[in-house]
Amino acid sequence: MNLTIIGTGYVGLVTGTCFAEMGNQVTCVDVDAQKVALLRQARSPIFEPGLEEMLARNIEAKRLRFTTSLKEACQQSDLFFIAVGTPPDQDGSADLQHVLQVARQLGEFLERDAVVVDKSTVPVGTAQMVKETIEHHLEHRGADLTIEVVSNPEFLKEGAAIQDFMKPNRVIIGTESPGARERLAELYAPFNRNHQRLLFMGTRDAEMTKYAANAMLATKISFMNEIAHLCEELGVDVEHVRQGIGSDERIGYHFIYPGCGYGGSCFPKDVRALSQMARQRGLEPKILDAVEARNRAQKERLAQKIVARYGEDLRQLSFGLWGLAFKPGTDDLREAPSRALLEQLIARGARIQAYDPVAMEAARAQFPPSWFDDQHLMLAEHQYAALEGVDALILVTEWKPFRHPDLAAMGRLMRHRVVFDGRNQYDPHQLAAAGFEYDAIGRGTYV
Ligand code: NAD
Repeated sequence: MNLTIIGTGYVGLVTGTCFAEMGNQVTCVDVDAQKVALLRQARSPIFEPGLEEMLARNIEAKRLRFTTSLKEACQQSDLFFIAVGTPPDQDGSADLQHVLQVARQLGEFLERDAVVVDKSTVPVGTAQMVKETIEHHLEHRGADLTIEVVSNPEFLKEGAAIQDFMKPNRVIIGTESPGARERLAELYAPFNRNHQRLLFMGTRDAEMTKYAANAMLATKISFMNEIAHLCEELGVDVEHVRQGIGSDERIGYHFIYPGCGYGGSCFPKDVRALSQMARQRGLEPKILDAVEARNRAQKERLAQKIVARYGEDLRQLSFGLWGLAFKPGTDDLREAPSRALLEQLIARGARIQAYDPVAMEAARAQFPPSWFDDQHLMLAEHQYAALEGVDALILVTEWKPFRHPDLAAMGRLMRHRVVFDGRNQYDPHQLAAAGFEYDAIGRGTYV
């Protein structure tokens, strides 16, 4: 099939590359000319395991191309995927400016009947709004075309995006049009060979499903973080509680890891956007508000522990920080707990030596330049270099190389043997035996 993907971020680029890998002819459009130039050289602007190889292979095979011109893409295809960002607006609702901009452009440029598929996460009713916007612009120029808009929300996880796209748990296809349903079923057929993964529903149902899924996952995390806080007060190790409840099949082990808060470009904004949807209809989203509030509080837990240990003035102290990305496997720093923590520590005068296996370039580009100019934040060359002379190590992202560190080397490098573990990665008894003071999330302090 011949298709166009609009937006080449985490979702658009992975979608386009994976569809090309399945033998389709794919054109990817982005307004960011720098990104397009990089992609044409088969270089990925984002870190995603396996993506660059697949990108190169499909460009080479002439199945995948990149352009800044949607007009040009409209001449070649009649199946369009919208995968542009839907960042939070000032009040927390999803900002649809990029989605509607694409809809306007499609209305201006389309030359034949088309199916437009919305992959971005958008509030209920957006597919209808996109259809009306396109039709309004078609009408304006006197073009009589039939446009179907489908909601096909994406569920991939950064860090495992290729795998998730290639072997999805499910593919949600929201449409009221039998023709569009057939086209999408055909496109997704190679992903649906071993068992039925396609779920068909209405556009509004599909739009809601995406928000409900993310809100449910965020709820599990915030619930567990609340339990962790209580455990800490009661002298209980939440890690035992986690294993104890996870073994119940009705609960399961996924997404019940306590930590220093969830981040990323999806959970925080999607929980807020769903709350706003409720509020706009006069409902009070009590659970969603609590999930969000707990997460905000959770992003302060590590700084609170540090202040409790050292006092408000951190000017004489330096910390090693392991992990900047909002989770392992990605260079994405959007709403990352590391950022919230750095803000709190730097405001109190601390000096930080940070290391992340892939997100350091992104940190240099996206964190406030003053953090680097004023020598508050240094990026270390490797994980142990970040520990030289520090008063404590803070673990924020549970990258694999941080999981089983050389405690003897750590002890030699650090000025003081203190670990704040924001992801409950270490065995408190092992650290205590190696002479480390250890504090984590919901486990009490071990000395
Ligand atoms: P992103 O910010 O990484 O990428 C968006 C891209 O769209 C950018 O490259 C931007 O330049 C481009 N763009 C903006 N306006 C454009 C226009 N008018 N024409 C062409 N290109 C345009 O975003 P993302 O993380 O890929 O997310 C995209 C959508 O998918 C969001 O709605 C998000 O909520 C959703 N989503 C994201 C993930 C994820 O893990 N990142 C997972 C599932 C769903």
